[in-house]
Amino acid sequence: MKFSWKVLVLWTLPALVIGFFFWQGAFAGAPADMSKNAANTRMTYGRFLEYLDADRVTSVDLYEGGRTAILEARDPDIENHIQRWRVDLPVNAPELISKLKEKGISFDAHPMRNDGAIWGLLGNLVFPILLITGLFFLFRRSSNLPGGPGQAMNFGKSRARFQMEAKTGVKFDDVAGIEEAKEELQEVVTFLKQPERFTAVGARIPKGVLLVGPPGTGKTLLAKAIAGEAGVPFFSISGSEFVEMFVGVGASRVRDLFKKAKDNAPCIIFIDEIDAVGRQRGAGIGGGNDEREQTLNQLLTEMDGFEGNTGIIIIAATNRPDVLDSALLRPGRFDRQVTVDSPDIKGRLEILQVHARNKKLDPSVSLEAIARRTPGFTGADLANLLNEAAILTARRRKEGVTIREIDDAVDRVVAGMEGTPLVDSKSKRLIAYHEIGHALVGTLLKDHDPVQKVTLIPRGQAQGLTWFTPDEEQGLISRSQLKARITGALGGRAAEEVIFGPAEVTTGAGGDLQQLSGMARQMVTRFGMSDLGPLSLESQQGEVFLGRDWTTRSEYSEAIASRIDVQVRAIVEDCYENSKKIIRDHRTVTDRLVDLLIEKETIDGEEFRQIVAEYAEVPEKQQYVPQL
Ligand code: ADP
Ligand code: MG
Ligand code: ZN
Repeated sequence: MKFSWKVLVLWTLPALVIGFFFWQGAFAGAPADMSKNAANTRMTYGRFLEYLDADRVTSVDLYEGGRTAILEARDPDIENHIQRWRVDLPVNAPELISKLKEKGISFDAHPMRNDGAIWGLLGNLVFPILLITGLFFLFRRSSNLPGGPGQAMNFGKSRARFQMEAKTGVKFDDVAGIEEAKEELQEVVTFLKQPERFTAVGARIPKGVLLVGPPGTGKTLLAKAIAGEAGVPFFSISGSEFVEMFVGVGASRVRDLFKKAKDNAPCIIFIDEIDAVGRQRGAGIGGGNDEREQTLNQLLTEMDGFEGNTGIIIIAATNRPDVLDSALLRPGRFDRQVTVDSPDIKGRLEILQVHARNKKLDPSVSLEAIARRTPGFTGADLANLLNEAAILTARRRKEGVTIREIDDAVDRVVAGMEGTPLVDSKSKRLIAYHEIGHALVGTLLKDHDPVQKVTLIPRGQAQGLTWFTPDEEQGLISRSQLKARITGALGGRAAEEVIFGPAEVTTGAGGDLQQLSGMARQMVTRFGMSDLGPLSLESQQGEVFLGRDWTTRSEYSEAIASRIDVQVRAIVEDCYENSKKIIRDHRTVTDRLVDLLIEKETIDGEEFRQIVAEYAEVPEKQQYVPQL
């Protein structure tokens, strides 16, 4: 809802005018007080004159400036009983008075009473008052919403949206697996604790540190740990909280924040998601965002405004350093960048150790095995994993977390909630062939990761799943590894086609195809692994609306585009043929594994390889499999 004083005024004016006329009509000419003389019967003016002439009228009271008369007269119809009538008089009837005098009839003129006018006036006011009150409450209510338009009312003295923690209670010991980052930031702790050591030799203490890394890797935690180690207060705000509907609010929040921080120095200011304000200026689609730019300018001004030794260190976090305004990264601002990456296997082990401290683990559990099974997991994922496992343990009423709970928790974190197994049917058989296809092709390819397990228990979107374990930390991936992955991903569809025929293949392979098409395309356009040669034809896709790179076009012509398509197709077709051949050549073991899978629902990797080994030679590299 967008709402401003301008709108309010525009609405109020017509409303007042309409209100005036409306109530004018209803209340003007409110009755003078005739009630105590009320006469129900009406008489025409002509009749009145007749009665006068016939001397029947005994008294006349004039009301409303002589426009209405209540008269008492003898009614001949009911034995000359005195009756009252009400007569509307013509406006110009001066002769009436003289006639009354002449006849000696007592008459009285009652002045118009004023309450009519008062009522009228009040009436005129009721509607506008109601209207203004209503609008006022509407306005008030919407101003209570966070970031609501009510900010306009106390423009400039924005409510603080930052949090302050006097003591974070987080220490460097609580942060694991990102040793390089920790080492770099150790220095910041020293800046805060003993600034004189640096100022004495004329060194300028850096003001800003930019933490760069994907979500969940521990950037916030690290910033808190710095404050905790140095024993200084921790101010934090998220970049998105600077961005308000009203121009100037974000800037005033920046001012507030720095003012508060200066009062509490030495301290840490932590700005999360700084890319929300710090994006390259003038790069927005559909015009620049004045508010954001003003906020950013204010931030830059504040950073320049205090001397290096005030003891304030600003730590900002982002996962998109590429979109940041270059002014932010200049010396004296965020001139230090610290990368906080997803942890490697050693890092994962250390993080698991940190989070296992307060959990009751069965002695049989090997954290190392968990670390090996969780490539790509961030610190937050690992913390979540151990927590899920602990929840499962409590639900199963066990003493401590065992490998089973961890295993289930990994599956759940990666693939979603477990569903109920299918009843035996043709479609269950088809799914079994599909999964065995993946697992068998994966097992027989030299460069493929080993199978960890195959299961027909549905999870998340998937009806069945084949898990592979990368047997080492994957840094660089070779061309043959990529081809092996594509071939393995095609194993499911290949088995469906070989066993049931081309007409019976299912939509189940949709996800596989999407994945492998992406891989094949990247082989051609990014990694130079096709006949097109070692060319980078596309950069990694970023979100169009986010950065300054939004105008990036593909760096090739139409002709190249169709050659890319040809290359991608060639890779996939080659892999598909290979995949189908493996299934065809190992039909017997395929059938046996499918029967076993339907019977047991899950086959683990070791058992799977043993069965395959009875029929074919399992490549050497597949033999080594980390055991959980
Ligand atoms: P980010 O700010 O990078 O998105 P957070 O610092 O908010 O990540 O991490 C969320 C949670 O994940 C932390 O509170 C902590 O429990 C856990 N975590 C993340 N990284 C680590 C790490 N390196 N060591 C220990 N715990 C971590
Ligand atoms: Mg965070
Ligand atoms: Zn599949």
